Amino acid sequence: MQFEPVIGLEVHAQLKTKTKIFCTCSTQFGNPPNANTCPVCTGMPGMLPVLNKQAVSFAIKAALATQCRINRESRFDRKNYFYPDLPKGYQISQYAAPIAEHGHLDIETEARGARTIGITRIHMEEDAGKLIHDAARSVSKVDLNRTGVPLIEIVSEPDIRTAKEAGAYLRKLHAILKYTDVCDGNMEQGSFRCDANISLRPRGQEEFGIRAELKNLNSFKNVEKAIAYEIQRQTYLLEEGKAVVQETRLWDPDKGKTFSMRGKEEAHDYRYFPDPDLVPLIVDDSWIESVQETLPELPDQKQKRFMTDFGLSAYDASVLTASIELADYFEQVVADLKNKKQAANWIMTHLLGMLNTRGIDIGQSPVSARSFSRLLSLLEADTINANAAKIVFETMVETRQPPDIIVKEKGLEQVSDRNELESLVTRIIDDNPDEVTAYRGGKTKLFSFFMGQIMKQTKGKADPKIVAPLLKKQL
Ligand code: ADP
Ligand code: MG
Ligand code: ZN
Repeated sequence: MQFEPVIGLEVHAQLKTKTKIFCTCSTQFGNPPNANTCPVCTGMPGMLPVLNKQAVSFAIKAALATQCRINRESRFDRKNYFYPDLPKGYQISQYAAPIAEHGHLDIETEARGARTIGITRIHMEEDAGKLIHDAARSVSKVDLNRTGVPLIEIVSEPDIRTAKEAGAYLRKLHAILKYTDVCDGNMEQGSFRCDANISLRPRGQEEFGIRAELKNLNSFKNVEKAIAYEIQRQTYLLEEGKAVVQETRLWDPDKGKTFSMRGKEEAHDYRYFPDPDLVPLIVDDSWIESVQETLPELPDQKQKRFMTDFGLSAYDASVLTASIELADYFEQVVADLKNKKQAANWIMTHLLGMLNTRGIDIGQSPVSARSFSRLLSLLEADTINANAAKIVFETMVETRQPPDIIVKEKGLEQVSDRNELESLVTRIIDDNPDEVTAYRGGKTKLFSFFMGQIMKQTKGKADPKIVAPLLKKQL
C-alpha cells in the first residue's frame, strides 16, 4: 500500500520586547541565572500580571505578515501543569480565543513546486523557565530568566507533505519574522523552536492517520532529517500491519533517530480556563492600522522586486532574499555596480561558499558589503580579470585588507597594454611552430592552448578581451 505523509508544524517564536509579557523584568539573554526575575514571573502569591502592549503589537505584526485575520477580542487562559520550571503551576496562554487565525504563506520546493500552506492560528503565551541538570553533583537547578518571556505560537494546517516542504515552510516563516523584526530568530538560543506533527494515511484516503509529535528540533536541517526518519519509521510500522502510537518523540541528532518521550497529552489534561487576572484583549482597527504601517517589504515582494529591478532569475532572487541580512548586503553591493547579475553570481558562489565552509552567517562575514562592492567594481572596470578577482577575494577573507591594496601588493592589475600584448602574441606564435601548423590545418581547439601560454607568461593577468582578437588575427 502507498502512504502519504501529513505534516503540521507548531513554531514558538520569542518576541523581541525589552521586557517580559506580564512584568517589567528584562528579557536579555545570558544574564546570571534568576537575575531577570520578580514576584510576578516567579509566581509569588498575590502577584498580578499586566499585559505588555509591545508584545501585542509584535504579535499583530507577525499575524499581518502571514495574512492572518486579527481577532478584535482574544483572551488569555491558564494551562495547568506541574513542573519545576513553571513556578505558578500554570502557563498563561491563549487557547480558546487566539489573537489571530486563518493565515497562510507560500513555499516552493523542487519536487512539488509552489504551494500555499495554511496557518491555523497564532496565539500569545509566556515562556517557561529552564532546568539545568548538574550530573556531576546529582542536583538540578532552575533558572527563571526565561519565565514570562513573550512568545507567539504559530500553528500550521496539516498541509505539508514532505520533509523538504517542512524545511521550506520553516525557512520562509523564519525569514518573515526576521524581516518584520519581531523575533531575533536565534535557533541556538531557542528564540525560534519547532515541533513537528507527522502521520501517514493510505494514498487517496481523506481521513488523517495517528500522529507522532517531534520535539527538540533545533535547526532546519534537523527538522528535515527528523521528519524523513519519522516518515520511514511509520511506513515500516504500517506496512507490517502495526499501529502508530499517538505520542511525543524526541529527535536525537547524534543517533539520527527519534525515540519516545511520553504519551501525547490531551487538551483536557491541562484543565484550561480563562485567567481571572487578565481582562479580554481588545484590538481595535486603529491599532491594527498603526501596525500595518510599520510592515516592511516582505520576502516574496522583495524577490519580485529583485527580479524586475536587477534582472535576476526567480531562483537567484529567492536565494538572495532568503534572509533580510543577505538581501541588504546584496543591495549595498550592487548599488554602484552596472552588472547586477555578475554581482549576484559572485555573492551566491564565492561569498556564500566562503560563509558555508566557515560555518558562519552573513553578519559575521570578514568581507563587508562595501569592500565586496569595490572588488566587483575593479572587475567591471577591467582593472583586474576574473582570475585575479578570485585571488583578491580569498586574500580579503584572510587579511581583511581592502581590495585596492591587495591588487597593488600582489601586482594583479590586468595587462591591457595593446602593444605589449601584441608582441607577446607574436612571440608565442614564433615559439610554437608545430601547434601553429596544426591550428592552421584545422585543429582550432588549439586556440585555448595559445591563450593558456599567454596567461602563463603574464601570470594570468592578460586581458582576455584584448588578447583573443589579437591572437585570432595573427593565427
Ligand atoms: P496540540 O499538538 O497542541 O495538541 P493541535 O491539535 O492544534 O495541537 O495540532 C497541532 C499541529 O498538529 C497542527 O500543526 C496540526 O496541523 C497538526 N496535526 C493535527 N493532526 C494531525 C495529523 N493527524 N497528522 C499530522 N499533523 C497533524
Ligand atoms: Mg502540539
Ligand atoms: Zn518579572
